[in-house]
Amino acid sequence: MNIFEMAKIPMNKAIEVMHLDPNAAAIIASPERTLEVSVPVKMDDGTVKVFTGYRSQHSTVLGPAKGGIRYHQNVSMDEVKTLAFWMTCKCAVAGLPYGGGKGGIIVDPAKLSKRELEALTRGYTDKIAPIIGEKRDIPAPDMNTNAQIMGWILDEYSKLTGQYEPGFITGKAICMGGSLGRTAATGRGVVVAALEAMKVKNIDPHTATAAVQGFGNVGSWTGKLFCDEGVKVVAVSDVYGAIYNPEGLDCYAVGDFVAETGSVVGFPGSQKISNAELLALDVTVLAPCAMELQLTKDNADAVRAKIVCEGANGPTTPDADEVFDKKGIMVVPDILANGGGVTVSYFEWVQNLYRYFWSEEEVIEKQNAMMRKAFKNVYNKAEEFGVNMRVAAYIVAMNSLAEPMRIRGMI
Ligand code: GLU
Repeated sequence: MNIFEMAKIPMNKAIEVMHLDPNAAAIIASPERTLEVSVPVKMDDGTVKVFTGYRSQHSTVLGPAKGGIRYHQNVSMDEVKTLAFWMTCKCAVAGLPYGGGKGGIIVDPAKLSKRELEALTRGYTDKIAPIIGEKRDIPAPDMNTNAQIMGWILDEYSKLTGQYEPGFITGKAICMGGSLGRTAATGRGVVVAALEAMKVKNIDPHTATAAVQGFGNVGSWTGKLFCDEGVKVVAVSDVYGAIYNPEGLDCYAVGDFVAETGSVVGFPGSQKISNAELLALDVTVLAPCAMELQLTKDNADAVRAKIVCEGANGPTTPDADEVFDKKGIMVVPDILANGGGVTVSYFEWVQNLYRYFWSEEEVIEKQNAMMRKAFKNVYNKAEEFGVNMRVAAYIVAMNSLAEPMRIRGMI
């Protein structure tokens, strides 16, 4: 099944139980706009290679489109549309004045030199420039993109527009108007969401264990902040494999080890296990923080965690959700659990618009408060409608979208 159709399954359940106006449902089912671009890059060997990129704006009902840009060999128009749809729902659940968008380029960035990567980034910026802007569509980092890439985009866009408009992009370096607390924000949100889930399940975090799939920005910060909260992280993984230590891993030390060696594998005192073994560990929380479609009908039965807290976008398929429902596993869905990144992106945008910057403590305090509120809203809807947390999150999102649609006269 096409990934966008699959992504809409829980939303359609929400639409059914909440009796959403079918006109609103029809509008939400398709992105407002999707742009495909070709980006020629003069490679270091003198040849010209043409890359394909996308930017999809799923919705601008609640505000400008908002969402990251992904560099990955498996990017496709369908994937970008799906990720943009998730951003609309994520921003609505978090209570942000944004719609949803997403961009991507089909490229394995590890195969490019730094100069080629910069040229590709600038070329892509030139092509999407007509549809982005601080009041239109605000990109940010996603898989394989970071503050350096945001910096090149900012520079290119500033040259094109001839004005200083730092709020058109978030996830920037601090010296370019970035927000303190943004780098760790997605991981911090995953941990806040997991702690809230433990609270409703009466689990003391100091007795809890966690397994984290993925050790990129989201996974590594999830692991580190779990450690700070006294949750024992027994396993983490990356594309090269997973590591396990029943006594707990110091994720800060694992982070230093990755910086030195390029992988978590081989971390002193740990045992190498497979990705499948990590997903099946008997832990309190399993945090899939890698990418979509990781928990499927093929491995869901093996999951023994009490809580699945989704740091990645779309890691669980609808048939895996069914298995988790049957097993009584609480899934804190992506559009709630990983909303911390875009929440602090919103703070960055606000600070940019005001040209007035906040302390890290202020950012963290505001983020925690917004995420706890979002969790409560979703949890209450789950109780009210007798549905799982994912369907409840879509009920919250659809509720926020439908009323402005009516008042705008769209439905
Ligand atoms: N790429 C992140 C996400 O999927 C962050 C988006 C943003 O900050 O706009 O939520």
